[in-house]
Amino acid sequence: MKVTFPHAGQAWVPLSTVIAKAGVECIVPPPVSKQTLSLGVKHSPEWVCLPFKLNLGNFIEGLEMGADTLLYVAGPGLCRLGYYAKVSEQILRDAGYHFEMLTFDWQDKQIVALAEFLKKVLGNRSWPRIVADIKFGLDQLRVMDELERMAHHLRPRVDKPSRITDIWRTAGQRVAKAWTPAELKKVKAEIVEEYRSVPLNPDADPLKVALLGEFFMVIEPFVNHDVEDMLGQMGVEVVRHASFSDWAWTWLFMEALGLSHGQKVKKAAAPYLSRDVSGDAVQTLGETILHQKEGFDGVIHLLPFTCMPEIIAQSILPKVTKDHEIPVLSVVLDEQMGRAGFVTRIEAFVDLMQRRRVRKKVG
Ligand code: SF4
Repeated sequence: MKVTFPHAGQAWVPLSTVIAKAGVECIVPPPVSKQTLSLGVKHSPEWVCLPFKLNLGNFIEGLEMGADTLLYVAGPGLCRLGYYAKVSEQILRDAGYHFEMLTFDWQDKQIVALAEFLKKVLGNRSWPRIVADIKFGLDQLRVMDELERMAHHLRPRVDKPSRITDIWRTAGQRVAKAWTPAELKKVKAEIVEEYRSVPLNPDADPLKVALLGEFFMVIEPFVNHDVEDMLGQMGVEVVRHASFSDWAWTWLFMEALGLSHGQKVKKAAAPYLSRDVSGDAVQTLGETILHQKEGFDGVIHLLPFTCMPEIIAQSILPKVTKDHEIPVLSVVLDEQMGRAGFVTRIEAFVDLMQRRRVRKKVG
Protein backbone atom coordinates (compact mmCIF):
# COMPACT_ATOMS: atom_id res chain seq x y z
CA MET A 1 0.00 0.00 0.00
CA LYS A 2 1.34 3.45 -0.94
CA VAL A 3 -0.73 6.14 0.69
CA THR A 4 -1.23 9.77 -0.31
CA PHE A 5 -3.58 12.61 0.77
CA PRO A 6 -4.10 16.33 0.09
CA HIS A 7 -1.30 18.50 1.45
CA ALA A 8 -3.90 20.86 3.05
CA GLY A 9 -1.97 23.42 5.10
CA GLN A 10 -0.17 21.57 7.92
CA ALA A 11 -2.40 18.46 7.91
CA TRP A 12 0.31 16.49 6.09
CA VAL A 13 2.62 16.68 9.13
CA PRO A 14 0.78 14.32 11.54
CA LEU A 15 -0.61 12.20 8.70
CA SER A 16 2.82 11.46 7.26
CA THR A 17 4.31 10.68 10.69
CA VAL A 18 1.51 8.42 11.88
CA ILE A 19 1.48 6.47 8.61
CA ALA A 20 5.26 6.16 8.36
CA LYS A 21 5.57 5.10 12.03
CA ALA A 22 3.26 2.16 11.27
CA GLY A 23 5.58 1.02 8.49
CA VAL A 24 3.15 1.93 5.71
CA GLU A 25 4.67 3.70 2.71
CA CYS A 26 3.53 7.31 2.65
CA ILE A 27 3.80 9.55 -0.41
CA VAL A 28 3.49 13.17 0.67
CA PRO A 29 2.42 15.23 -2.35
CA PRO A 30 4.40 18.41 -2.98
CA PRO A 31 3.10 21.60 -1.34
CA VAL A 32 0.18 23.14 -3.21
CA SER A 33 1.57 25.04 -6.20
CA LYS A 34 0.67 26.38 -9.65
CA GLN A 35 1.18 22.86 -10.96
CA THR A 36 -1.31 21.48 -8.40
CA LEU A 37 -3.81 24.14 -9.36
CA SER A 38 -3.50 23.60 -13.09
CA LEU A 39 -3.91 19.81 -12.70
CA GLY A 40 -6.98 20.36 -10.51
CA VAL A 41 -8.50 22.94 -12.85
CA LYS A 42 -7.92 20.70 -15.87
CA HIS A 43 -9.84 17.79 -14.39
CA SER A 44 -12.56 19.58 -12.36
CA PRO A 45 -15.94 20.98 -13.36
CA GLU A 46 -15.43 24.74 -13.84
CA TRP A 47 -18.01 25.77 -11.22
CA VAL A 48 -16.67 23.68 -8.36
CA CYS A 49 -15.01 25.49 -5.46
CA LEU A 50 -11.27 26.03 -5.28
CA PRO A 51 -10.46 23.63 -2.38
CA PHE A 52 -11.87 20.77 -4.47
CA LYS A 53 -9.61 21.65 -7.41
CA LEU A 54 -6.50 21.91 -5.24
CA ASN A 55 -7.18 18.62 -3.44
CA LEU A 56 -7.79 16.90 -6.77
CA GLY A 57 -4.52 18.34 -8.11
CA ASN A 58 -2.68 16.99 -5.03
CA PHE A 59 -4.20 13.54 -5.58
CA ILE A 60 -2.98 13.50 -9.18
CA GLU A 61 0.50 14.53 -8.03
CA GLY A 62 0.48 11.74 -5.41
CA LEU A 63 -0.77 9.15 -7.92
CA GLU A 64 1.88 10.19 -10.44
CA MET A 65 4.48 9.67 -7.67
CA GLY A 66 3.33 6.07 -7.30
CA ALA A 67 0.55 6.17 -4.69
CA ASP A 68 -2.19 3.54 -4.91
CA THR A 69 -4.33 4.54 -1.91
CA LEU A 70 -5.98 7.94 -1.40
CA LEU A 71 -7.10 9.25 1.98
CA TYR A 72 -9.90 11.80 2.08
CA VAL A 73 -12.54 13.29 4.32
CA ALA A 74 -16.20 12.71 3.56
CA GLY A 75 -19.37 13.76 5.24
CA PRO A 76 -22.93 14.88 4.82
CA GLY A 77 -22.07 18.60 4.71
CA LEU A 78 -24.77 21.06 3.71
CA CYS A 79 -22.48 22.47 1.02
CA ARG A 80 -20.55 20.75 -1.75
CA LEU A 81 -18.06 19.29 0.70
CA GLY A 82 -20.49 16.39 1.04
CA TYR A 83 -19.81 15.40 -2.60
CA TYR A 84 -16.05 15.96 -2.68
CA ALA A 85 -14.92 12.38 -2.04
CA LYS A 86 -17.31 10.66 -4.45
CA VAL A 87 -16.88 13.21 -7.25
CA SER A 88 -13.06 13.22 -6.94
CA GLU A 89 -13.01 9.42 -7.02
CA GLN A 90 -15.14 9.32 -10.16
CA ILE A 91 -13.09 11.98 -11.95
CA LEU A 92 -9.82 10.18 -11.19
CA ARG A 93 -11.18 6.80 -12.32
CA ASP A 94 -12.49 8.39 -15.53
CA ALA A 95 -9.00 9.85 -16.06
CA GLY A 96 -7.60 6.30 -15.97
CA TYR A 97 -6.06 6.15 -12.48
CA HIS A 98 -6.27 2.92 -10.46
CA PHE A 99 -6.40 3.27 -6.68
CA GLU A 100 -8.32 2.56 -3.54
CA MET A 101 -9.98 5.49 -1.78
CA LEU A 102 -10.39 5.41 1.99
CA THR A 103 -12.65 8.09 3.43
CA PHE A 104 -13.09 9.43 6.91
CA ASP A 105 -16.57 10.74 7.76
CA TRP A 106 -15.86 12.97 10.74
CA GLN A 107 -19.50 13.96 11.25
CA ASP A 108 -20.59 10.37 11.61
CA LYS A 109 -18.79 8.98 14.67
CA GLN A 110 -16.12 11.65 15.21
CA ILE A 111 -13.09 10.25 17.10
CA VAL A 112 -14.38 6.67 16.68
CA ALA A 113 -14.57 7.21 12.91
CA LEU A 114 -10.98 8.49 12.93
CA ALA A 115 -9.79 5.43 14.84
CA GLU A 116 -11.63 3.07 12.45
CA PHE A 117 -10.24 4.97 9.48
CA LEU A 118 -6.67 4.70 10.77
CA LYS A 119 -7.17 1.01 11.51
CA LYS A 120 -7.98 0.50 7.80
CA VAL A 121 -4.89 2.47 6.78
CA LEU A 122 -2.47 1.09 9.36
CA GLY A 123 -3.50 -2.55 8.95
CA ASN A 124 -2.55 -4.84 11.82
CA ARG A 125 -1.52 -2.15 14.29
CA SER A 126 -3.18 -2.81 17.65
CA TRP A 127 -5.92 -0.57 19.02
CA PRO A 128 -3.77 0.78 21.91
CA ARG A 129 -1.07 1.69 19.35
CA ILE A 130 -3.66 3.42 17.15
CA VAL A 131 -4.98 5.43 20.10
CA ALA A 132 -1.38 6.41 20.96
CA ASP A 133 -0.76 7.36 17.29
CA ILE A 134 -3.87 9.57 17.26
CA LYS A 135 -2.75 11.29 20.44
CA PHE A 136 0.74 11.86 19.07
CA GLY A 137 -0.63 13.17 15.74
CA LEU A 138 -2.86 15.62 17.61
CA ASP A 139 0.13 16.73 19.69
CA GLN A 140 2.05 17.41 16.47
CA LEU A 141 -0.87 19.44 15.13
CA ARG A 142 -1.02 21.47 18.34
CA VAL A 143 2.72 22.17 18.19
CA MET A 144 2.46 23.27 14.54
CA ASP A 145 -0.43 25.60 15.38
CA GLU A 146 1.41 27.06 18.39
CA LEU A 147 4.52 27.71 16.28
CA GLU A 148 2.43 29.30 13.55
CA ARG A 149 0.66 31.57 16.05
CA MET A 150 4.02 32.60 17.46
CA ALA A 151 5.10 33.52 13.92
CA HIS A 152 1.94 35.65 13.51
CA HIS A 153 2.69 37.43 16.77
CA LEU A 154 6.39 37.98 16.16
CA ARG A 155 6.56 39.04 12.49
CA PRO A 156 5.26 42.59 13.06
CA ARG A 157 7.36 42.99 16.22
CA VAL A 158 10.83 42.08 14.97
CA ASP A 159 13.45 43.90 12.90
CA LYS A 160 13.45 41.25 10.17
CA PRO A 161 10.01 39.60 9.71
CA SER A 162 11.38 37.53 6.82
CA ARG A 163 13.66 35.74 9.29
CA ILE A 164 10.60 34.54 11.25
CA THR A 165 9.04 33.31 8.01
CA ASP A 166 12.23 31.45 7.09
CA ILE A 167 12.23 29.67 10.46
CA TRP A 168 8.48 28.90 10.26
CA ARG A 169 8.92 27.38 6.81
CA THR A 170 11.30 24.76 8.23
CA ALA A 171 8.87 23.77 10.99
CA GLY A 172 6.75 21.26 9.03
CA GLN A 173 9.69 19.09 7.93
CA ARG A 174 11.28 19.23 11.37
CA VAL A 175 8.11 18.42 13.33
CA ALA A 176 7.25 15.60 10.89
CA LYS A 177 10.60 13.97 11.71
CA ALA A 178 9.84 13.96 15.46
CA TRP A 179 8.53 10.46 16.18
CA THR A 180 8.41 10.49 19.98
CA PRO A 181 7.01 12.98 22.54
CA ALA A 182 10.58 13.76 23.67
CA GLU A 183 11.69 14.52 20.09
CA LEU A 184 8.60 16.67 19.55
CA LYS A 185 9.32 18.65 22.71
CA LYS A 186 12.95 19.12 21.67
CA VAL A 187 12.18 20.30 18.14
CA LYS A 188 9.55 22.74 19.42
CA ALA A 189 12.01 24.19 21.94
CA GLU A 190 14.66 24.59 19.20
CA ILE A 191 12.28 26.43 16.88
CA VAL A 192 11.04 28.69 19.69
CA GLU A 193 14.67 29.47 20.53
CA GLU A 194 15.37 30.38 16.90
CA TYR A 195 12.32 32.68 16.87
CA ARG A 196 13.60 34.34 20.06
CA SER A 197 17.01 34.93 18.52
CA VAL A 198 15.49 37.42 16.05
CA PRO A 199 15.88 40.94 17.52
CA LEU A 200 12.68 42.74 18.45
CA ASN A 201 11.86 46.17 17.07
CA PRO A 202 11.30 48.41 20.13
CA ASP A 203 9.18 50.86 18.09
CA ALA A 204 6.73 48.26 16.78
CA ASP A 205 3.07 49.07 17.33
CA PRO A 206 1.33 46.56 15.09
CA LEU A 207 -2.17 46.79 13.74
CA LYS A 208 -4.23 43.73 14.62
CA VAL A 209 -6.31 42.01 11.98
CA ALA A 210 -8.42 38.83 12.10
CA LEU A 211 -8.21 36.42 9.19
CA LEU A 212 -11.61 34.83 8.69
CA GLY A 213 -13.52 32.93 6.04
CA GLU A 214 -13.58 29.51 4.43
CA PHE A 215 -11.29 27.12 6.31
CA PHE A 216 -9.12 26.02 3.38
CA MET A 217 -8.69 29.57 2.07
CA VAL A 218 -7.34 30.82 5.38
CA ILE A 219 -5.05 27.89 6.17
CA GLU A 220 -3.45 27.27 2.77
CA PRO A 221 -0.67 29.79 2.01
CA PHE A 222 -0.51 29.12 -1.73
CA VAL A 223 -4.12 29.96 -2.30
CA ASN A 224 -4.15 33.11 -0.13
CA HIS A 225 -0.80 34.34 -1.52
CA ASP A 226 0.70 33.80 1.92
CA VAL A 227 -1.30 36.73 3.23
CA GLU A 228 -0.14 36.09 6.81
CA ASP A 229 3.48 36.66 5.84
CA MET A 230 2.48 39.61 3.64
CA LEU A 231 0.66 41.30 6.52
CA GLY A 232 3.46 40.53 8.97
CA GLN A 233 5.94 42.22 6.61
CA MET A 234 3.63 45.26 6.57
CA GLY A 235 3.69 45.44 10.38
CA VAL A 236 0.30 43.83 10.95
CA GLU A 237 -0.38 41.08 13.47
CA VAL A 238 -2.65 38.37 12.13
CA VAL A 239 -4.99 36.43 14.41
CA ARG A 240 -6.53 33.32 12.92
CA HIS A 241 -8.58 30.89 14.98
CA ALA A 242 -9.15 28.40 12.17
CA SER A 243 -6.60 25.62 12.55
CA PHE A 244 -6.48 21.85 12.32
CA SER A 245 -5.90 21.40 16.06
CA ASP A 246 -9.00 23.50 16.89
CA TRP A 247 -10.93 21.64 14.20
CA ALA A 248 -9.89 18.29 15.68
CA TRP A 249 -10.79 19.37 19.20
CA THR A 250 -14.21 20.64 18.11
CA TRP A 251 -15.27 17.87 15.75
CA LEU A 252 -13.52 14.83 17.13
CA PHE A 253 -14.05 15.42 20.84
CA MET A 254 -16.62 18.10 21.71
CA GLU A 255 -19.17 16.77 19.23
CA ALA A 256 -18.43 13.16 20.15
CA LEU A 257 -19.14 13.96 23.80
CA GLY A 258 -22.35 15.72 22.81
CA LEU A 259 -20.98 19.03 24.04
CA SER A 260 -21.93 22.16 22.22
CA HIS A 261 -19.08 24.25 20.90
CA GLY A 262 -18.53 27.79 19.74
CA GLN A 263 -21.50 29.11 21.76
CA LYS A 264 -19.99 32.55 22.13
CA VAL A 265 -19.46 32.87 18.37
CA LYS A 266 -22.92 31.53 17.55
CA LYS A 267 -24.54 33.91 20.05
CA ALA A 268 -22.71 36.90 18.55
CA ALA A 269 -23.74 35.89 15.01
CA ALA A 270 -27.35 35.03 15.90
CA PRO A 271 -28.92 38.48 15.26
CA TYR A 272 -27.60 38.24 11.69
CA LEU A 273 -27.56 34.50 10.97
CA SER A 274 -29.31 32.20 13.39
CA ARG A 275 -28.90 28.86 11.59
CA ASP A 276 -26.00 26.84 10.33
CA VAL A 277 -25.64 27.29 6.58
CA SER A 278 -22.58 25.02 6.51
CA GLY A 279 -18.93 25.93 6.03
CA ASP A 280 -17.67 28.74 8.24
CA ALA A 281 -20.33 31.42 7.66
CA VAL A 282 -21.49 31.62 11.29
CA GLN A 283 -17.86 31.82 12.49
CA THR A 284 -17.12 34.60 10.00
CA LEU A 285 -19.98 36.75 11.28
CA GLY A 286 -19.68 35.90 14.98
CA GLU A 287 -15.92 36.36 15.10
CA THR A 288 -16.11 39.67 13.23
CA ILE A 289 -18.36 41.01 16.01
CA LEU A 290 -16.29 39.52 18.83
CA HIS A 291 -13.03 40.86 17.35
CA GLN A 292 -14.50 44.34 17.12
CA LYS A 293 -15.27 44.16 20.85
CA GLU A 294 -11.67 43.02 21.48
CA GLY A 295 -10.36 46.15 19.75
CA PHE A 296 -9.12 44.67 16.48
CA ASP A 297 -8.32 47.13 13.71
CA GLY A 298 -10.02 45.12 10.97
CA VAL A 299 -11.04 41.81 9.46
CA ILE A 300 -9.90 40.16 6.25
CA HIS A 301 -12.48 37.73 4.92
CA LEU A 302 -11.36 35.17 2.34
CA LEU A 303 -13.76 33.08 0.33
CA PRO A 304 -13.52 30.87 -2.73
CA PHE A 305 -15.50 31.79 -5.81
CA THR A 306 -18.95 30.08 -5.74
CA CYS A 307 -18.71 29.12 -2.05
CA MET A 308 -22.34 29.25 -0.93
CA PRO A 309 -21.83 29.57 2.88
CA GLU A 310 -19.28 32.37 2.58
CA ILE A 311 -21.35 34.22 -0.06
CA ILE A 312 -24.14 34.28 2.53
CA ALA A 313 -21.70 35.66 5.12
CA GLN A 314 -20.34 38.19 2.62
CA SER A 315 -23.82 39.51 1.87
CA ILE A 316 -24.49 40.06 5.61
CA LEU A 317 -21.09 41.56 6.49
CA PRO A 318 -21.90 45.13 5.29
CA LYS A 319 -24.68 45.30 7.90
CA VAL A 320 -22.33 43.90 10.58
CA THR A 321 -19.65 46.43 9.60
CA LYS A 322 -22.13 49.28 9.84
CA ASP A 323 -23.59 48.18 13.18
CA HIS A 324 -20.24 47.39 14.80
CA GLU A 325 -17.91 49.87 13.11
CA ILE A 326 -15.14 47.53 12.08
CA PRO A 327 -13.60 47.59 8.60
CA VAL A 328 -13.90 44.33 6.67
CA LEU A 329 -12.17 43.44 3.42
CA SER A 330 -13.80 40.50 1.62
CA VAL A 331 -11.70 38.90 -1.11
CA VAL A 332 -13.03 36.24 -3.46
CA LEU A 333 -10.24 33.86 -4.46
CA ASP A 334 -10.16 31.71 -7.55
CA GLU A 335 -7.65 30.45 -10.09
CA GLN A 336 -7.83 33.76 -11.98
CA MET A 337 -6.75 35.90 -9.01
CA GLY A 338 -3.36 37.48 -9.70
CA ARG A 339 -0.94 38.28 -6.88
CA ALA A 340 -0.44 41.94 -7.85
CA GLY A 341 -4.13 42.82 -7.59
CA PHE A 342 -4.41 40.97 -4.28
CA VAL A 343 -1.38 42.77 -2.80
CA THR A 344 -2.78 46.15 -3.87
CA ARG A 345 -6.05 45.46 -2.09
CA ILE A 346 -4.28 44.32 1.08
CA GLU A 347 -2.01 47.40 1.04
CA ALA A 348 -4.99 49.72 0.62
CA PHE A 349 -6.79 48.01 3.49
CA VAL A 350 -3.75 48.27 5.78
CA ASP A 351 -3.52 51.97 4.88
CA LEU A 352 -7.20 52.42 5.76
CA MET A 353 -6.74 50.69 9.14
CA GLN A 354 -3.66 52.80 9.85
CA ARG A 355 -5.50 56.08 9.14
CA ARG A 356 -8.48 54.93 11.18
CA ARG A 357 -6.20 54.21 14.14
CA VAL A 358 -4.56 57.64 13.88
CA ARG A 359 -8.00 59.30 13.66
CA LYS A 360 -9.14 57.43 16.77
CA LYS A 361 -5.98 58.47 18.66
CA VAL A 362 -6.45 62.16 17.91
CA GLY A 363 -10.14 61.86 18.78
S1 SF4 B 1 -17.44 25.73 2.45
FE1 SF4 B 1 -17.45 26.59 0.39
S2 SF4 B 1 -15.46 26.18 -0.47
FE2 SF4 B 1 -15.70 24.86 1.31
S3 SF4 B 1 -16.53 22.99 0.44
FE3 SF4 B 1 -18.29 24.18 1.05
S4 SF4 B 1 -18.87 25.34 -0.80
FE4 SF4 B 1 -16.80 24.53 -1.12
